[in-house]
Amino acid sequence: MITYENVEVTQQFASDNYAGICPEAADAMEQANHGHSTAYGDDPWTTGASEAFRELFEMDCEVFFVFNGTAANSLALASLCQSYHGVICCDASHVETDECGAPEFFSNGSKLLVAQTADGKLTPAAIHDLATKRQDIHYPKPRVVTITQPTETGRVYSLTELQAIASACRKHGLYLHMDGARFANACATLNCTPAELTWKNGVDVLCFGGTKNGMAVGEAVLFFNRKLAEDFDYRCKQAGQLASKMRFLAAPWVGMLSTGAWLRNARHANHCAQHFASQIADIKGVQLAGPVEANAAFLLAPERVLNALRERGWKFYTFIGGSARFMFSWDSDLDRIDNLSRDLRECAALA
Ligand SMILES: *Cc1c(COP(=O)(O)O)cnc(C)c1O
Repeated sequence: MITYENVEVTQQFASDNYAGICPEAADAMEQANHGHSTAYGDDPWTTGASEAFRELFEMDCEVFFVFNGTAANSLALASLCQSYHGVICCDASHVETDECGAPEFFSNGSKLLVAQTADGKLTPAAIHDLATKRQDIHYPKPRVVTITQPTETGRVYSLTELQAIASACRKHGLYLHMDGARFANACATLNCTPAELTWKNGVDVLCFGGTKNGMAVGEAVLFFNRKLAEDFDYRCKQAGQLASKMRFLAAPWVGMLSTGAWLRNARHANHCAQHFASQIADIKGVQLAGPVEANAAFLLAPERVLNALRERGWKFYTFIGGSARFMFSWDSDLDRIDNLSRDLRECAALA
């Protein structure tokens, strides 16, 4: 039997999906759990969540709900590609490093065309190089660019950078897809509207992450270019992504969007990352691997310092570029972050 004694309840900052469900999402789920409702998305919660997205994005987009980010990204990309097409992405992108080949699988073979980057951000120059690398029939035809906002490396594309990428896409006849597993955090950083961060600046399709934003499960796929959504419902069903009790995937979104929790949660997580960065800024031998722009902080520190930190019970990952990643979420506790900072300071002094 699982008891609270053997379940870890203290906060760790290894991942933003270590956190639980935020009250706004949980309340909406609870409210949806009354009586019976039509299945497979033909219910008021699904309609309400879709309407809430259209309102938030100030546009009559097509909205779909799937279980996770891998499904959202790979099904969205598959809907933009034929099997002989190519998808331009960067080397740190989740579609390349963390989806087990799902984008290639669901698109029946569309190839990821990977740009090498220093900081996990794609540039118009890299897009140009990959789009023009080959024009012959022996190479997959570039069709889509996918960018992650914020990036896997904790960086945020500015509106100007986004506009430049979108213009490179238009120039080469490429669609623009955005992996927004942490889209809310980018909105919080840039203080701009979701519309500005997407369709007003050339994004055709967005995968909007709910899980890392405070929900139990679920991502929304938004097609601003509606004709690209043709038959997407069939794609979801075939891929095992059509929830029969859809209201429980949709209701949390109603809670998140109607209360503003989506943005509040992201602001808090971003603030925690800034707080952590300021707490550790003057520790000798420890430095930030890059600027803190969203809810992540990446640290460079000697291995013995990181090991000492691990020995004190702290969990973190070092799989991105060798630096230690700390991620903050909707419920990250500032006191607990101060404990981490203090331990890091002590470990660095002892080592
Ligand atoms: C977490 C994450 C996803 C979604 O991952 P799933 O585990 O499939 O839900 C997608 N993209 C990025 C950049 C992520 O960090």
